[in-house]
Amino acid sequence: MDLSYTEEEQRFRAELRAHLEASVPRTEPPEDFDAEFLWMLEFQRRMHGGNWVGIHWPKQYGGRDATPMQQAIFAEEMARARAPQIVNRVAINNVGPTLMHFGTEEQKKRYLPGMLSGDEIWCQLYSEPGAGSDLASLRTRAELDGDDYVVTGQKVWTSYAQHARWAILLARTDPDARQHRGISYLIVDMQAPGIELRPLRQMTGASEFNEVFMDAVRVPRANLIGAANEGWRIAQVTLAHERGTNYAIKEQVLARINVDELLAQAQQTGRASERNVRQRLAQLYLETEIMRFMNLEMLTRVARGETPGAETSIVKTFWADLSQAIGDAGVEILGEQGLLLRGSPHAVGAGRFAQHLLFSRAATIAGGTSEIQRNIIAQRMLGLPRS
Ligand SMILES: Cc1cc2nc3c(=O)[nH]c(=O)nc-3n(C[C@H](O)[C@H](O)[C@H](O)COP(=O)(O)OP(=O)(O)OC[C@H]3O[C@@H](n4cnc5c(N)ncnc54)[C@H](O)[C@@H]3O)c2cc1C
Repeated sequence: MDLSYTEEEQRFRAELRAHLEASVPRTEPPEDFDAEFLWMLEFQRRMHGGNWVGIHWPKQYGGRDATPMQQAIFAEEMARARAPQIVNRVAINNVGPTLMHFGTEEQKKRYLPGMLSGDEIWCQLYSEPGAGSDLASLRTRAELDGDDYVVTGQKVWTSYAQHARWAILLARTDPDARQHRGISYLIVDMQAPGIELRPLRQMTGASEFNEVFMDAVRVPRANLIGAANEGWRIAQVTLAHERGTNYAIKEQVLARINVDELLAQAQQTGRASERNVRQRLAQLYLETEIMRFMNLEMLTRVARGETPGAETSIVKTFWADLSQAIGDAGVEILGEQGLLLRGSPHAVGAGRFAQHLLFSRAATIAGGTSEIQRNIIAQRMLGLPRS
């Protein structure tokens, strides 16, 4: 891949940089999770105003058809501007591309625009108390009654459910079929009667995710994506997007912001001259660069029309470990004060590293655990027998 920039790419960068300068909030994120959500949503709206949300989407659906190089530039500029994440990421990275592939024209027209603008937030109702890694054992039922499916069951770990207008749901529509068959993929109105949410408090103090209880929730048949009982295949496409390039780019941006910040803090406090600290920082820098190149390779494959498969598991495992290494290094280099969360007057960098340390524990679980990713690599890439 040619890593030099064309004039057009340089113009793209300049335009994006100017938009980011005008859009990135000047304030630190609010302490309260709900207020932080709105702070991030406001950023997404400003970015959408310049057509800078979902740049990898086709132009016909409101994206920019961004080339791999433009997506790489996007990641660099987001990190440079220390930009917040795009909050409706479940919609933009997972649901949108799945709908483009499997949805009807009506479904695309109805749902895609509100994803980019942030007017309609989405969540993902996959995991259940007894079905996480072994997702195919899910027990939520959807039974056809006239023109509606009637959904009953429980989901868990549903990020942003409390803010979501819509959800994608996996439910069992044929209880007699073998595990992976008999599952359908539905769009659920999160305001429908019969849905109850219970927020789950995480160790960061935030309640990003929730338990979702569904008791005879009516879902119109028109909200079925693809064919009935074909949901497993569609869910795999959504999961590939979740583990794939755009999440990895988001994590690369986060890693770069955190490593740069840590470098600045180490220099300010004089710790950068300690041999161990220098070794640690250089290693993190090196791994962040490796991740950048892994992402470029994935982007190149996508541009060639290839669908990344098991390789996404390598990237996912790599960024999960890197994310935790940055959190660990952050608090070690910053000392006791690095453990203080935002809200404390003595917190360093507005508590960024303490927050990151706590949240990064989720990196090896969310979107499929590292053990499961290694199983995928072992079976599909190395040809080893199933565990
Ligand atoms: C921050 C966060 C956000 C999330 N958001 C969502 C969301 O929005 N929507 C949603 O549906 N889900 C969400 N999840 C859930 C996530 O997908 C699951 O937690 C994940 O798939 C693991 O499932 P589990 O928690 O049931 O663990 P389990 O599957 O019970 O696994 C427990 C342990 O056993 C190991 N294990 C299991 N099977 C194997 C095996 N075959 N070989 C080796 N080891 C194995 C696992 O690696 C893990 O260490 C989120 C999770 C987190 C942490």
